[in-house]
Amino acid sequence: MLQKKEISNKEMVEDTFTLIESNKHLNAFVTLNKEVSLKKAENLDNNPSNLPLAGIPIAQKDLFCTKDLRTTCGSNMLSNFIPPYSATVIENLESAGCISIGKTNMDEFAMGSSNETSFFGNVENPWGEGLVPGGSSGGSASAVAAGIVAAASGTDTGGSIRQPASLCGITGLKPTYGRISRWGMIAFASSLDQAGPMARTAEDCALMLNEMCSHDPKDTTSLDENIPDFTQNLNSSIKGMKIGLVKEFDLSKLDNDVVKVFEESKRHYESLGAEFIEISLPNISLSVPTYYVVAPAECSSNLSRFDGVKFGRRCENPKDLEDLYVRSRSEGFGDEVKRRILIGSYVLSAGFYDAYYKKAQQVRRLIKNDFVSAFEKVDVIMSPTTRGTAFKAGSMGSDPIQMYLEDLFTIPANLAGLPAMSVPNGIVDNKPVGMQLIGNFLEESKILQAAHSFQTSTDWHLKTPNGDIS
Ligand code: GLN
Repeated sequence: MLQKKEISNKEMVEDTFTLIESNKHLNAFVTLNKEVSLKKAENLDNNPSNLPLAGIPIAQKDLFCTKDLRTTCGSNMLSNFIPPYSATVIENLESAGCISIGKTNMDEFAMGSSNETSFFGNVENPWGEGLVPGGSSGGSASAVAAGIVAAASGTDTGGSIRQPASLCGITGLKPTYGRISRWGMIAFASSLDQAGPMARTAEDCALMLNEMCSHDPKDTTSLDENIPDFTQNLNSSIKGMKIGLVKEFDLSKLDNDVVKVFEESKRHYESLGAEFIEISLPNISLSVPTYYVVAPAECSSNLSRFDGVKFGRRCENPKDLEDLYVRSRSEGFGDEVKRRILIGSYVLSAGFYDAYYKKAQQVRRLIKNDFVSAFEKVDVIMSPTTRGTAFKAGSMGSDPIQMYLEDLFTIPANLAGLPAMSVPNGIVDNKPVGMQLIGNFLEESKILQAAHSFQTSTDWHLKTPNGDIS
């Protein structure tokens, strides 16, 4: 419509803010960028641009630093933090012409799977009152699912793009570790964190990814690899594609209807000419425990910078330096973040480092090696994204382990650094479910191709809580 001039850039941005207003109950946004967005849109109306994402409103997860725009990471600790610079990925998207219309709500410091740990309150899933959108990129997922924006940025340390994408019925992609710069992304677990796109379709994810990726000398783990046009292979046939099914993933424990959806998707892929091959990832059952040693360890180190001195909140009238540290951190962090810092400090401490942290790193290598062998036999690996559909807020009770198990299927790709995505593949009890496609290193194009061929021959990605998109 923009290209055909059926709508102006300004109208488009205005419509977006109207939609944000009418979906306020979702609590998907923490901070809006209205004035700047409208100005940018007016500029584009006066000076049309050929940039690939010119004028497209994009919601940015509130974990990316945005120059002169509050960045909270869902935490009281950063509730007043206005960064003096933007993350590389934000700069990349904005240089491609997109308009960052606001910052989306998220689990505090990206720790969570339900968006119930944000200082700014729960996010709601547009598919049903009281349903969680998943986490930690729940605000981004909810905003895309509700049709407020066509695409949003997210981050994925153990599943935070794919799990909320699955629970909200949208498409989300976590690229290969290092594909997208982490500079300006507030760190949770540096060896696992990776930014990625969340959108309605694989094609939109590819368009976003084209702009998000870059080699960045400011991030030492940024990959200096060729960045292909991720849309190029979308329409290639998947005839003969070998899809791996993980022997060790016991689907019998999942909801029957969720398994049925998965089986149907398999049959659909077979009808498109793909071939299924059973593969073994012998160490995969150790993924969740390994993650919950490595991620808290790195978080306890990364979050030590929030001490009341350099960033964000500081307690009132500190008695002395120690009091300043203790009270600023006690007041600034929520319970889940404190729990992770405690676990992390414990596994890194002198007496336990070898038993926990070092052991976890060794197991991580074994898990990665399992994938290396598997990808000698298959092109992509397919599994459900989550154990079930969106659950009610508060229903996980006080046992954090139940919540940690939400990421059973997504964590392995982070530990191995592999690209993986979630694609809507069915509806169970009026709620969406997703399937996960994991690719080999740097093979985002292949999983996008597999996802696109599915989406051009099914319509699960067009289902929204407000009816089907025609
Ligand atoms: N749910 C996982 C956790 O709580 C993953 C979060 C993420 O990917 N940021 O750590």
